[in-house]
Amino acid sequence: MSDCIFCRIIKGEIPSDTVYENESVKVFKDINPVAPVHLIIVPKIHINDTEDINDQNKSAVAECLNAVKVAAELAGVEKSGYRLISNYGSDGGQTVNHLHFHLIGGIKMKEGLI
Ligand code: AMP
Ligand code: ZN
Repeated sequence: MSDCIFCRIIKGEIPSDTVYENESVKVFKDINPVAPVHLIIVPKIHINDTEDINDQNKSAVAECLNAVKVAAELAGVEKSGYRLISNYGSDGGQTVNHLHFHLIGGIKMKEGLI
């Protein structure tokens, strides 16, 4: 999608601090990190959000999850731990409407979520 910021990052139209990519997935540093490690994992095809996942695009989502441990290792948090988050909709706090997973680590987080 031409007006999607993450599609533009994937196409190289907007710079990003990329830490890993393959045919299906790109992983880059969040521009506004909330923790010492804050990576964004995105499918290279445009999927709006978790509600937009279906049989046709689910393999791209699986590729994102398959990239989690690679990204965690590259960030050095594979042993200390991390949190994986995908926001959806206004209550979920989603601001970029291209499915993505936040990988957050490098700090001791409280148990629980909110
Ligand atoms: P969400 O609120 O779950 O939709 O998350 C969107 C995330 O994308 C936020 O954490 C933003 O800081 C991040 N973000 C927005 N624009 C960029 C960008 N150009 N490069 C890297 N991260 C970005
Ligand atoms: Zn997109």
